[in-house]
Amino acid sequence: MKDYLVRGLVNSKNCRVFACSTTKLLEVARKDHSLWPTASAALGRMMSATLMMAKMNKNNEKMTVVINGGGPIGTMICVTNGDGNIKGFVANPGVHYTYNDTGKLAVGVAVGHEGTLQVIKDMGLKEPFTGSVPLQTGEIGDDFSYYFAVSEQTPSVVSVGVLVNDTNEILASGGFIIQLLPEATEEDITYIENAVKNCPPVSQLINDGKTPEEILELLFSDVEITEKQDLYFKCDCSKDKLSKALITIGKDELNSMIEKDHGCQLHCQFCNTEYNFSEEELKEIINDI
Ligand SMILES: [Zn+2]
Repeated sequence: MKDYLVRGLVNSKNCRVFACSTTKLLEVARKDHSLWPTASAALGRMMSATLMMAKMNKNNEKMTVVINGGGPIGTMICVTNGDGNIKGFVANPGVHYTYNDTGKLAVGVAVGHEGTLQVIKDMGLKEPFTGSVPLQTGEIGDDFSYYFAVSEQTPSVVSVGVLVNDTNEILASGGFIIQLLPEATEEDITYIENAVKNCPPVSQLINDGKTPEEILELLFSDVEITEKQDLYFKCDCSKDKLSKALITIGKDELNSMIEKDHGCQLHCQFCNTEYNFSEEELKEIINDI
């Protein structure tokens, strides 16, 4: 099954819903970044939530989500612009913790909860929109839920999960978000709370072969799907883009790179690609300034 996202409405319960499967794209990220299982779970949960959140934006604007909870995984960054492509990385991919009692991947321990979840939306204005909330548990789902409640005044259930096999490959990744519309009643809220409580873990549902539509149908009997989109882990870096970045560091710095190192090597953190610039190429960049 390929990765995709659906967005829909449940008129009878006054809510809008999102669900996605991200197993394949997380496996690409795992290989690109050599993620250990708990790091896979943290980044996978974050990418699922970020992709669904991007579908709430009106104009497919570029959106960056940054989480730093002070835990051993360090800073985590995801970037998407609502077109189904996402890129992301964690500062330290070699982290692995499990909870003693359940044996489950301890995402909250790896991420930590002494820090913030920050959302930056570039809407083409002078200054980008920035929203930030303190982390609640570092388990990612809770933290996004808190962000929607506080920063966007939208009560939301965010459920994201990842399953990893014995050889660290991604078995399942995905999630769902339920957001209350202003017309929602107490009965609607009670229904949603019970439906979520009785729903098996979303990673298990995906591992069982359930599609995003089928996950929403387990929660609601009358979901109207309004949009469907394929999802990919894809970086948009290129040598051309990086040479533009080199222009911004200025002639003096470039000249010193030529003299000292006879070239330079740039590294894209999002996909781990190395780009080499020769002395000649750096001279051309200087000439273009
Ligand atoms: Zn890249």
